[in-house]
Amino acid sequence: MADVISLLPNHIANQIAAGEVIQRPASVVKELLENAIDADSKHVIVRIKNAGKTLIQVEDNGKGMSETDARLSFERHATSKIKSADDLFQIKTKGFRGEALASIAAIAHVNMKTRRSEDSMGTEIQIDGSNVVKHEACSHANGTVFSVKNLFFNVPARRNFLKSDSIEFKHIVDEFIRVALTHPEVELDLYHNENEIYRLAEGNIRQRIVAIFGDIINDRLVPVEEETSIVKLYGFVGKPENAKKKRGEQFFFVNNRFIRSPYLNHAIATCYEDLIPAKHHPSYFIYMHVDPAQLDVNIHPTKTEVKFEEEKFIYSIIHSTVKNSLGRHNMMPTLDFDSEMSMDTGHFSPDKQVVQPEVKVDSSYNPFISTKPSSSGYGDYNKPSHKEKNQDWEELFEVARKEKETAEQSETVLERFKSPEVWNFFQVYNSYIVLNTSSGFWVIDQKLAHESILFEQFYSAMQGEESNSQQLLFPEEIYLSSREKICLLNEESNLKNLGFTFEEFSAERMVVNGVPEAIDGNSISNLLEDIVRAIDNETGHMPSEIQKNIALSLAVNAAIKRGQKLSSEEQESLFTQLFESKNPGISPKGKPTFIKFDVSHLENFFK
Ligand code: ADP
Ligand code: MG
Repeated sequence: MADVISLLPNHIANQIAAGEVIQRPASVVKELLENAIDADSKHVIVRIKNAGKTLIQVEDNGKGMSETDARLSFERHATSKIKSADDLFQIKTKGFRGEALASIAAIAHVNMKTRRSEDSMGTEIQIDGSNVVKHEACSHANGTVFSVKNLFFNVPARRNFLKSDSIEFKHIVDEFIRVALTHPEVELDLYHNENEIYRLAEGNIRQRIVAIFGDIINDRLVPVEEETSIVKLYGFVGKPENAKKKRGEQFFFVNNRFIRSPYLNHAIATCYEDLIPAKHHPSYFIYMHVDPAQLDVNIHPTKTEVKFEEEKFIYSIIHSTVKNSLGRHNMMPTLDFDSEMSMDTGHFSPDKQVVQPEVKVDSSYNPFISTKPSSSGYGDYNKPSHKEKNQDWEELFEVARKEKETAEQSETVLERFKSPEVWNFFQVYNSYIVLNTSSGFWVIDQKLAHESILFEQFYSAMQGEESNSQQLLFPEEIYLSSREKICLLNEESNLKNLGFTFEEFSAERMVVNGVPEAIDGNSISNLLEDIVRAIDNETGHMPSEIQKNIALSLAVNAAIKRGQKLSSEEQESLFTQLFESKNPGISPKGKPTFIKFDVSHLENFFK
């Protein structure tokens, strides 16, 4: 019998190898982007047509290639990045296997133009399915541009397996973002069908995250940082109140390479366990740097799993670092008044002895030691039988419950924050109260803050706590349908607790004689209509839901509005009341009542 073994021709071997490296257009984008970064480019432009099915072009201003290297770069196992097996233990580049270009050229039409700064002419190479069809000198700017067309033209099975343009493009964006997040020092642009998708200026990591995910994320990031002999760790985690139901912005990078790690994800998720509602996920951007020798280098080019030698140690470092950072930055940051750093608005009189207030970062504060709420306060919000309909409320109150922990701390803040002359408030836009502190400033939304205060007052009034009623000079008549009247009368005792007094006059008429003190007497019929609606909407629900809804409509109705000028006493009083309340950080509708700007955050704007 004749021998049966023969060596596969190069182009077939490449095509087979390509199957592993290049699965979809996004893989090409990843490989070309990584090559551009490895070539020390300062600016990279990615142009995509039809989700990469028609064109993927990556243009860089990196170091370019000599004529010989240009041709060699398309050979399999051709790499400038390692020379020996030992180099595998100190890889600093993204690529090292020398497979990407050979693979891409095996399954697409690839055109490359490249020039080094020291060469006067560049080189142009065109390879269609491993066949070199052009190799000549050309003029070209410094750097390299790859244009990949007709991907999988000779692998119909692959081509047919590609998903819709929107899905394939989403994969491309994912790869682009992963590279962008690890290289904020490189300017990166992405265009799809000539439309600009991202234009990312160079900056620091925070600026890059904000450029990608929008300004809104800026206030939601809590910095994390730790350095040990095994791992250097830095980055940001999202504030608990911004956790989302969608598992979205979660990134781990090891030595500037994106990785997936359910194990390390767990290290972070457990830090949030008591801080966010069930089925919510925090965002995080965690950068780890370890000795390359500690990593399993045999990483598959397309795989994002990685093996660390010291995985357990890294787990616990991540866990404790994130936990600490959340403790320090969570919801209720401690004040650190240091007159030297604060913007002095002249509250101190020159002849008065200035007492340095002793408010420092409360390092003993631990948001993870949770105290279970008592049955008073916001009551029992975990009745499972009403799960579906009440889900929003339950989630909101779940957040509120978590916040009780921070409330305990706010007492300490106020306690230690007793000397009024250091209170340095002003109002902007007649809507926000700014509090100047040594570490930056706080912005309190007067409307949301007041809603939060009033909600709590009204809600506890309905729990039978003392409340004040103001008797109306001119009792107000209101007209209600019989259904509405039934709703109102059903809740009579709750409403009485709040300070409402009313009488039934005739079938449709009620007369209101007294209202809660906090309510302005002018819009009573509107207010009662709102309340009736709140009760009506909740018919059949738990009484505590109805109470919450009543308290909410009252609070929203009675709260100070935006655009209302407040005296400095009013500003102070709002601040004090807010931090005396149980949930200072969150409005009854779940919005934050204040945000804190760190000096470091400001400094970033001017970098
Ligand atoms: P690897 O990146 O694993 O080395 P590739 O097939 O991706 O393998 O690239 C082969 C070689 O081509 C690289 O090692 C590098 O020397 C060169 N090269 C690829 N892309 C570029 C580029 N954009 N600029 C300069 N050199 C490049
Ligand atoms: Mg490469």
